[in-house]
Amino acid sequence: MSRIVVAGGAGFLGTHLCQALLARGDEVVAVDNLVTGSKRNIDLLADRSGFSFELVDVIDGVAIDGPVDAVMNLASPASPADFAVMPIQILQVGSTGTKNLLDLALAKNARFFQSSTSEVYGDPEEHPQTESYWGHVNPIGPRSVYDEAKRFGEALTMAYHRTHGVDVRMVRIFNTYGPYMRPDDGRVVSNFINQALLGKPLTVYGDGSQTRSFCYATDEIAGFLAVLDSDHVGPINVGNPTEFTVLELARTVLEITGSRSEITFVDLPTDDPTQRCPDITLARTLGWEPKADLRWGVEQTTAWFQSQLDGSG
Ligand code: UDP
Repeated sequence: MSRIVVAGGAGFLGTHLCQALLARGDEVVAVDNLVTGSKRNIDLLADRSGFSFELVDVIDGVAIDGPVDAVMNLASPASPADFAVMPIQILQVGSTGTKNLLDLALAKNARFFQSSTSEVYGDPEEHPQTESYWGHVNPIGPRSVYDEAKRFGEALTMAYHRTHGVDVRMVRIFNTYGPYMRPDDGRVVSNFINQALLGKPLTVYGDGSQTRSFCYATDEIAGFLAVLDSDHVGPINVGNPTEFTVLELARTVLEITGSRSEITFVDLPTDDPTQRCPDITLARTLGWEPKADLRWGVEQTTAWFQSQLDGSG
């Protein structure tokens, strides 16, 4: 059993991670400022043995009493919709917030786990993306607040590893979806499912030919744990390598929900990556492989969003 601090523990992936750690018998201290995380997610876990929650903004510093075996950094707004609303906060949490969590790991002699992102590859000119690809990021565009914060986070993590000998692990997360996403999160899977359930038009940005590779949340978390428990510093891509166009996703959502919603085409956001697909050769060497296919995952996620809409969830 380990005692693990999960920063961003009330968020979409944070909630799945806390559940998985508790299920394997770890003690979890979730910290979150609840800006994009939800108190409701914390309430789900509140009475589980081994779970505690601290309302903390990691930008202000993190003090945790007692021993800590690992610090896992999932703290950041992560939807392109958030990039426009809180750009400076995203830069702060990716820089100062990450530094404060690295300092906590250093002080506690704990392992540090950095959740980085496929956004470090920007609009990639190599396809699929391997970890050795350095990326193609517009440093001043609207996405740069997240992309560059996460690139800085990787650099800072490596600097603490090299300078202070902190034991670090890094994953690069590709598009992930599932229960506990915010319905108004603005990302494509949550948008399409909620639009379909509410009979509203599905908003395809651009002509929908851009691709993404969608990983179901529990698969993603299994990948995190494989990396956390491994000897690889990383970074390691963790995502599902099956690629779909956004238009294919829209049609899949319509089929699964049985919705009569129309598809409507709206302007493509600035710097929207044209294609994205992880090369997961490295992650596979840890014995990890995503299991859920898109149809099954969209079915599960639809059932969860439906339960939120009708109040039964
Ligand atoms: N997208 C879309 N309609 C939406 C939301 C997103 O067509 O309502 C597109 C978006 O332009 C991008 C892809 O879906 O090409 C994935 O967007 P998301 O915001 O989920 O994540 P990203 O991969 O861009 O970080």
